[in-house]
Amino acid sequence: MNAGRIEGANVEQSEYEGPGVFGYETDLPAMRVAMISVHTSPLASLGSADAGGMNVYIRELACHLGMLGVEVDIFTRRTLPGTPEVAPLCPGVDVISVKAGPPEPVHKDSLFPLLPQFASEAVLSSVRRGVRYDVVHSHYWLSGWVAHLLRRYWETPFIQMFHTTAHMKESSGNSVIEIPLRAKTERQIIDLADSLVAANPAERADLLWRQRTPTDKVCTVPPGVDLELFSPGDQRSSRKALGIPGDRAVILFVGRVDPIKGIETLLEAIERWPSDGAEPLVVFVGGELEGNGTPVGALADVAALADDLGIAERFSFVGSQPQDKLPLFYRSANVVAVPSKYESFGLVAIEAMACGIPVVASRAGGLAFTIEDGETGYLVPVAEPEPLTEALVRVVGDPNLQRQLGTTARDAALRFSWPAVASSILHMYQRLAEGHRADLCCDEEIYA
Ligand code: UDP
Repeated sequence: MNAGRIEGANVEQSEYEGPGVFGYETDLPAMRVAMISVHTSPLASLGSADAGGMNVYIRELACHLGMLGVEVDIFTRRTLPGTPEVAPLCPGVDVISVKAGPPEPVHKDSLFPLLPQFASEAVLSSVRRGVRYDVVHSHYWLSGWVAHLLRRYWETPFIQMFHTTAHMKESSGNSVIEIPLRAKTERQIIDLADSLVAANPAERADLLWRQRTPTDKVCTVPPGVDLELFSPGDQRSSRKALGIPGDRAVILFVGRVDPIKGIETLLEAIERWPSDGAEPLVVFVGGELEGNGTPVGALADVAALADDLGIAERFSFVGSQPQDKLPLFYRSANVVAVPSKYESFGLVAIEAMACGIPVVASRAGGLAFTIEDGETGYLVPVAEPEPLTEALVRVVGDPNLQRQLGTTARDAALRFSWPAVASSILHMYQRLAEGHRADLCCDEEIYA
């Protein structure tokens, strides 16, 4: 090791061996983005309590940005003691596990006090790794709060995506009351962020009209779907692979077990199934099972309700499934039910459509824009079991209608591709990094 002597001081000084202090400026990629996802990691297993559409969105967006030559670091809270600080996700994309609070799961309503530590640890991590960022892109309100601190250290613009706001969620009639801090913080983030991404036109309208956000600050970028993974396929062989009987009408549900998903409405709709119609089988993907296949946690409550309603034999609870196995489930179904009270994206609906399967969904959030009523499936009122039963009976009882809706659904799903999402978002990053706000959005016509 070389040692130097500081002039005028009688001190031996070792040569600095850490990351380049200014050196990071010499080897910049086209663009480096810090994505913030405090409360859930893109590496979490999908279909559990807090891992669903947002995790898929962040993973797919980041990996598609990676393919465009953008370097992405996704900062998430460390929830296990042994997690390495940096874990590669896909080419150009790393997941950075940040120490903030205990290395164990913490309910998202209790995370706010840990956010200052999250922000300072994220900064220290960037210093240790000798990197800086051109843009901060934060997901969900907790991450937005962190982003407003990080942007000061990194001197970058920040883009916020809420993945539903407290107001949108509560006005959907959801029974779960959000902590008051959430709406207040969201209001502040709207003012502080340089730009906001809305997942559907209703969210954009809410931001512009109710929250009085300047028009040029909000872009609507709908989500994407992996059109190769989610593609049409043979129903018979898919059912065989999954052990689903070939002669039953199959209604598929896929999602987290959460009050927002309207699961009771689905159960009540199945309870109303006409006695002269063939008994349907509801294949229920999501939630947790014990080793012996018994539902546990919130899924146990769903199974108990099915029991109480006397419809337990119409349900098959298969628990959460890895995403690459879901196409088999979609292809096995006659129809996919999405009875949610609110959906910002409704990725499950788009995945089903991409597999050529009709969807019966509630007219809520993004679903009202992705599903064309009577063309690619049916839209029914939120939290009303009767119209849901009627629409499901209609699709299940008519194979020609299923085929016709399914074909149109696949065509409609082709609009939603991750490369298109990534290029729209990259356009926003570039405009903001160059200091412009005008001409920020480029993909609003997708819903036209
Ligand atoms: N998902 C999965 N396995 C499961 C349940 C869900 O891979 O067992 C995935 C599903 O493919 C979809 C996402 O989780 O991409 C759920 O997204 P959606 O927008 O439908 O709901 P959210 O979780 O955002 O409420």
